[in-house]
Formats: sequence, structure tokens, C-alpha cells
Amino acid sequence: MNTIEKFDSHVMGTYGRCGIVLEKGSGRTAADENGKKYIDFGSGIGVNCLGYCDEDWADAVCAQVRSIQHTSNYYYTRVQADFAEKLSEVTGYGRMFFGNSGAEANECAIKIARKYSFDKYSTKERCNIITLTDSFHGRTVTTLSATGQDAFHNYFFPFTEGFINVKANDIDDLRAKLDGGVCAVMFEFIQGEGGVNVLDGDFVREIFRLCAENDVLTIADEVQTGAGRTGTFLTSEQFGVKPDITTLAKGVAGGVPVGICLAGEKCGDVLTKGTHGSTFGGNPLACAGGLAVISKVGNPSFLAEVKEKGDYFKKKLMEIPEVSGVDGMGLMMGVSFKTRSAAEVFAACHEKGLLVLTAKTKLRLLPPLNITYNEIDEGIEILRSVLV
Ligand SMILES: *Cc1c(COP(=O)(O)O)cnc(C)c1O
Repeated sequence: MNTIEKFDSHVMGTYGRCGIVLEKGSGRTAADENGKKYIDFGSGIGVNCLGYCDEDWADAVCAQVRSIQHTSNYYYTRVQADFAEKLSEVTGYGRMFFGNSGAEANECAIKIARKYSFDKYSTKERCNIITLTDSFHGRTVTTLSATGQDAFHNYFFPFTEGFINVKANDIDDLRAKLDGGVCAVMFEFIQGEGGVNVLDGDFVREIFRLCAENDVLTIADEVQTGAGRTGTFLTSEQFGVKPDITTLAKGVAGGVPVGICLAGEKCGDVLTKGTHGSTFGGNPLACAGGLAVISKVGNPSFLAEVKEKGDYFKKKLMEIPEVSGVDGMGLMMGVSFKTRSAAEVFAACHEKGLLVLTAKTKLRLLPPLNITYNEIDEGIEILRSVLV
């Protein structure tokens, strides 16, 4: 049996996979079982932010494997303390909880918001969380409930109660629904899975104004936009706001599973002993990977380059006649076409040796943050050849 047959005969068919078996990677290039090479404009959905097997990152993770790989949360580890300190420094958040995925980070944020409200107002009624249409917050039953897309609300009844959808960028809808039963508003600055939709600055400012006025927590899901993806460590910096809670995952440890819930002063001490936990949370390997990522991505000069590369990318993409628009910020891009469908372009790119992603009707690009200008040019040449 070949790899795909063996795989499909044992692993649940929950994903629409393309028929490529990736075997190894180096820098911004992956190779399949037959040795065919692919330039990577997808980073495993924004995870491999330093590309494949970055030397320093790999050294840090390997050294940790050989030092101590897991302890459980009965004990302290130095590497978690170091990673947490560095994250605090770079993000300005004083407290954090470590889990293993974006969904888990968001679950933590939801628990904080509800307990903050219950602790302070002593009522079960002030428990609702506003989320936006076309959002995506994860695959657990509760984060599916939070996700503002009807397509995700099938089969798994009953869903978690207490999520109210507001139309993204509709200030009137937000004002109408933010009533006394709401404890938090949760949103992505740029909706990733929902189609690379950047929120309007005015809408974001209105969320923060209304939430401050009503003691409602702001939760930024930066699972996809965080950790340098858009040219600042957190995308909130570019919107000029400081959410009460920010969640991170995907790129933050460069390819080791991790999810982080960052909390500011207002709600950093809401979760007390025994109210939350995770066996693998804060695992030393994840923290070692995260420390290696942040020691590069946390530098202002690295982040400035992400922004410059994003601008260059956009300019080159717009030079392709078939491209009608590029949305997003930094190295998070959604490309629209005049006549071609994203699905068709996606398949053709893989055929020609370029890994890409889609989001709704757009081609989505999340290249490694340390991609070179030459590699950008090479990948865009492949895309151009697909689009003639
Ligand atoms: C990917 C993603 C998630 C879910 O993360 P998992 O690690 O798959 O649980 C949640 N929110 C956003 C914005 C994401 O992009």
C-alpha cells in the first residue's frame, strides 16, 4: 500500500487533503516523497513562521527534548518561565495561560469572560458573548458555537448557549445587541478562515468604546493574525487598541503545538487554582520552540521587514492581470481573481510546485515570515504562470 492508501484506510476522513505526501522541508521549501519540491506560501496555515526546520529553532527544541520533555503542571520549569517573561515583554500582557491549540486558547478566554462577569455581578444572566459573522474560533463544541458561520452549526447538537452574532463592521447591529446580558465581545482583527476580511477601524473603535462603557471584556482572537504575521507582534498594535484578552496559537511556537491566552490587568487573576488546566499546557518543547520564535520575531527590525515584504508581495501580485485585489495586512493576504476560482488556482499551484491556501472565494497566502525576496519572486512567477 502506498502512503495515501494506508493513511486513508486508518485515519478519519475529516479533511479535504490534496494528494501530496510531504516528507521533509528546509527553509521555505518542502519536498514530497518523490523528491518534488514546493515553495511554501502557506506555512502549514501560518504555523511554520520561520520556515521548515530553522537551525536555531530546531537546536532549541532538540536540546529541550534531551533535557526534559514533560513535567506536568504539578511542577515549575525554567523554560516556561523564560517564555512567559519574553511574551509579557513583547505583548505587554502580564498574565497568560498555556494550552495546546487555538480552540483551547479561545475556550480559556471564554471561561475568563464568564467568570469575570459572574464574580463581579453575581448573576448567571450576564454570560453572553458577542461574536461576528464569518468569524472562526475553533472546532470544539463551544468554539464552534462561538464561530459565526451557520455551516459550522450542524450535527453536534446541543451547542453551547450564550453566543450572539453581530454582523462584522455593522456598528448599528453591535449597538443593538450589546445589552446588559453581554460579558464579552470576541473578534478577529482580520478574519482568516472567513475570507481574509480586515475589520474597519471605526468598527473596532466602537467595540472598544462600548465595552469600556459597559464593563464588557474585549477578546481578540489573534490565533492567525498574531506572532508577527501582520508586521507587528500583535495586530491590535496597528489598530491602536489593547484588548482585555488576546489569544495566540498557530505561529507562536514555529510548529510545536501551543495555544496561549493572554490577559491584561482587569482579568488576569480571574482563573484561580482548580478552575482551569491542561495536561500538556506549557509543555517544555512548546515553550522552547516559542522562545526560539520570539527571540527572532519579537525584534522590531524583523517585524518591520515582515511589513515591507507584505507591501512588496502585494505590489507584485497586483501586477498580475488576472488579480483583481489583495486584502489583508503584512504577510497575511487574500487574493481575488477576475475570472478564475480560488479552488482551481489552488490545485494548479500545487501541480506546479507552490503550496498555497484558500479562504472562501480567495486564494490565501501565509508565507513563512523569514521568506526572502528571491523566494517571493519565484513563487509569484509560478502563480503568474498558472494565471495566464
Ligand atoms: C486556526 C484558528 C483557530 C483554531 O485553532 P486550532 O489550533 O485549530 O484549534 C481559532 N481561531 C482562529 C482565528 C484561527 O485562525
